[in-house]
Amino acid sequence: MSEETIRQGDQFFEMLKASGRNYDIEKIRSALDYAATLHEGQFRVSGEPYISHPLSVAEIVVGLGLDTNSVCAALLHDTVEDCADKTSLTEIEARFGKEVAYLVDGLTKLVQLNVEDKEEAHIENIRKMLLAMSKDVRVIFIKLCDRLHNMRTLAVKADPKRRATALETMHVYAPLAHRLGMQKLKQELENLCISYLDPIGYEEIQSYIEEKYGESVDFIENIQGMVSRKLEENHIPFTLKGRIKSVYSIYRKMFNQNKSFDQIYDFYALRIIVDSELECYTALGLIHEMFKSVPGRFKDYISTPKPNLYRSLHTTVIGRDGIPFEVQIRTWDMHHVAEYGIAAHWKYKSGEKSKEEIDKKLEWISRLVETEGETRDPDEFLNALKTDIFHDETFVFTPKGDVIALPQGSTVIDFAYSIHSGVGNSMVGAKINGMIVPIDRAPETGDIVEILTSSASKGPSRDWLSIVKTSEARTKIRSWFKKEKRADNIIAGKAMIDTELKKWVRACTENQRNEMVAAVGKRLGFMSADDVYNTLGYGGISMGKLSGKLRDEYERTLTQPEQETAEPLTAEQIKTVKPKNVRTSGGIVVDGESGCQVKFARCCNPLPGDDVIGFITKGFGISIHKCDCPNVKNGRSNPEYAERWVEAHWESGTAANDQAMYEAQITVYVQDRMGIVADVSVALSEMKVFLLQINTSASGSDNTIINLKISCKNVEHYHSIVSRLKAINGVLDVVRGFS
Ligand code: MN
Repeated sequence: MSEETIRQGDQFFEMLKASGRNYDIEKIRSALDYAATLHEGQFRVSGEPYISHPLSVAEIVVGLGLDTNSVCAALLHDTVEDCADKTSLTEIEARFGKEVAYLVDGLTKLVQLNVEDKEEAHIENIRKMLLAMSKDVRVIFIKLCDRLHNMRTLAVKADPKRRATALETMHVYAPLAHRLGMQKLKQELENLCISYLDPIGYEEIQSYIEEKYGESVDFIENIQGMVSRKLEENHIPFTLKGRIKSVYSIYRKMFNQNKSFDQIYDFYALRIIVDSELECYTALGLIHEMFKSVPGRFKDYISTPKPNLYRSLHTTVIGRDGIPFEVQIRTWDMHHVAEYGIAAHWKYKSGEKSKEEIDKKLEWISRLVETEGETRDPDEFLNALKTDIFHDETFVFTPKGDVIALPQGSTVIDFAYSIHSGVGNSMVGAKINGMIVPIDRAPETGDIVEILTSSASKGPSRDWLSIVKTSEARTKIRSWFKKEKRADNIIAGKAMIDTELKKWVRACTENQRNEMVAAVGKRLGFMSADDVYNTLGYGGISMGKLSGKLRDEYERTLTQPEQETAEPLTAEQIKTVKPKNVRTSGGIVVDGESGCQVKFARCCNPLPGDDVIGFITKGFGISIHKCDCPNVKNGRSNPEYAERWVEAHWESGTAANDQAMYEAQITVYVQDRMGIVADVSVALSEMKVFLLQINTSASGSDNTIINLKISCKNVEHYHSIVSRLKAINGVLDVVRGFS
């Protein structure tokens, strides 16, 4: 160790002893020795040995009254990051225990932030994040001490670095100190910021203050004497504190309110601390008796506390020679709140904490800052803070150090979209703290999240819609699909409708489905079925909204095909739909009796008008065949069955009965050409013939055989169908029955 380091170390240990607190000197000494060894050979920009920095930070920590482990952590705070080759958290834990290692870890994780040119809301996130990510409030305290020392020694740094650090301190750390009730530290940070950011303005105000103070020494002493005598005469126990406003607060006042220095009345303030609230008002009366008050300057923050719990009486009065000065009157309790009022912020935010709870928190933080050891729970305050404010937010970093606030449970996809929809849309993967993670991973507060993008990305996946937590991400993903993927959306939408239809429709053709969807869509304001599919595909409408209406439409149309326009059909696959009233039995008189159990043979499917004959089956009633059915010809030649053939004919009037439909089988021989099957379907549709089954097979090199099962009224109807089919270009022949 260098001589100056040894000297600084000696002073430090003097300070520890003089603090009157129960510091574990041996432990602290060994932490200092270890840190000094690790930082050996490292120097600050100023040329000093590096160890002078952690040592100074530790001094400030001692000044705040923090405990032994905090002091050790302050000494070791830069070792893990800067001397990673020589030590580790494990090593520190082995040497100094879990708690010190935990604090050092917390300090190491508070990465360099990037706050320049960020709007206020963003900076507020950073502050919240700092609080949220430090599991122990001492981490923040030590970090603030670290920052204070860096600010004190900032002058040696190059200008851009100086400016960035000062801005960050002004926007993040000073308000943080304010929130934690560390008023003194906050004020020093602010004054240092201004001295770097506006050195000329700073000098100007400081020389004003000095000048004015020099002019006012007599005045101030005179006032203090007058006030003291008056309070004593009235038997009020008191403590007097004179105070000069900080450069920063004057600077801000002049800047914000556009005032000249002479218009700043309260650069000097007299603070009177008494024992009770009543004495505050008594003292105020006495002050107003002694001095003329400035109208409009009296503030009763006792009956109406500031949002941050600050309570005091403020008044500005005119002293000797017409010089105004401010008087602040408060009790000791109020004074402690003013100094350590960290609970103020969340009382304000939650607005429903009882006074007792707040007081308990204040008491705790006062004790933490003022005294060493005793019973205290360093996490109590921070936990309360987190539960009160942060329970629903996660704060993560971009690789550049920007802080992004996300609702709890948000995934890396949400993160990507919160940065920019372009980032989300070209996302191909993600890293958390440098490790590749699945894209449904939810990062935790303090994680560094990096989104891997590629210009070759095909865009977001539809699955993401069910993964993301934020509506922002969901909206952006949907709008991408809406814009970029109409064709895919339509396919996806169709698939969704098909799945839905399968729940209650045995099957339907594409065209039937399209018609239904178009009809339903029209009522919902869609221009076409494709618009419905598209919207469904990108998630712009839910299936729940469509399902009931589709079902109604289905009931209304497709269950009564002979009364509605039958649909043209395509035939990539076999589709069977059975209209309710296609008859597979009935309308037959057997042997002069009607009403016996009959069914139509599947081999020939007789139609009204056909000559028919019955065959008595074993257990299935009478099967009705066409007389010219090949099975009949074969069967009748078998003497064994001779007695089972019975005469049958159609009931009179059957052929004219429009309502009854019968199955008919047709084989169509066609030339193989594009669209021929569709033409056949269209022709059937135009004749309002319901297609029950269609099946195609190749026949030779350029012919195709189409087997159709259709609904048909009777033989006449059948013949009209056949002649219509024969008229189609490319149809070679039409034959009844299946070949
Ligand atoms: Mn440091």
